[in-house]
Amino acid sequence: CGIVGYIGNRQAFPILIKGLKRLEYRGYDSAGVALLNGDMTVFKKAGKVIELEKVVDPNRLGATIGIGHTRWATHGEPNDRNAHPHLSQSGELAIIHNGIIENYASIKAELERRGYVFHSDTDTEVLVNLIEEVKKTENTTLDNAVRIALNEVVGAYAIVVLNVNNPDQLVAARKGSPLVMGIGDDEFFIGSDASSIIEYTKNVVYLDDQEFAVINRDGTYSIRTLGNVEKSHAIQKLEFS
Ligand code: GLU
Repeated sequence: CGIVGYIGNRQAFPILIKGLKRLEYRGYDSAGVALLNGDMTVFKKAGKVIELEKVVDPNRLGATIGIGHTRWATHGEPNDRNAHPHLSQSGELAIIHNGIIENYASIKAELERRGYVFHSDTDTEVLVNLIEEVKKTENTTLDNAVRIALNEVVGAYAIVVLNVNNPDQLVAARKGSPLVMGIGDDEFFIGSDASSIIEYTKNVVYLDDQEFAVINRDGTYSIRTLGNVEKSHAIQKLEFS
């Protein structure tokens, strides 16, 4: 339902929580964050963002890269386990996802055949494990694995993925669900809508359908299509209404 992301020099957690609160008007049943600071820390909870804030460990909020999600359940009942972010089997990847992966059942069956065990009832956990499996079998980068995996997927999505082995990069993609990237000074914000970003920057790039973005801590980013064609979008200015 709602997506936020941050990479930069500031503490990610307060920015993510504020962004999630800005997206509350859309309605949701659960909330969660993944923070990358040496290792990956996930806090998630059924209920409101304020319930999530109650379960976070204040000593584990130092990360300057992270993702946050408010869920509107489509696959699996609203509970703590089904809340996003979801981790891949090895724990290397964390994902947040808006939308529906329509062919998740057949992908899940194949992944189970290959030894994957699932801990939620969501289509989203299937997608993060598909990305992990592609990354392993193709021995490739996260962004390339995301691209290949999304070419196998039927459905609508906006996703953001974190890699525990690369704390300097976020990978985001969309098809059928909106995603906007805010560009600050050596920092980036991601949102499913601009209301979670406008407080921090007015410079934004909207991803088009079937595009993915690789967003780097050094202030650079690139956008490509799922067919692997490089795109350059003009930076747009958000206007206050
Ligand atoms: N299909 C996913 C789920 O049920 C994402 C739902 C959403 O857009 O929040 O967990």
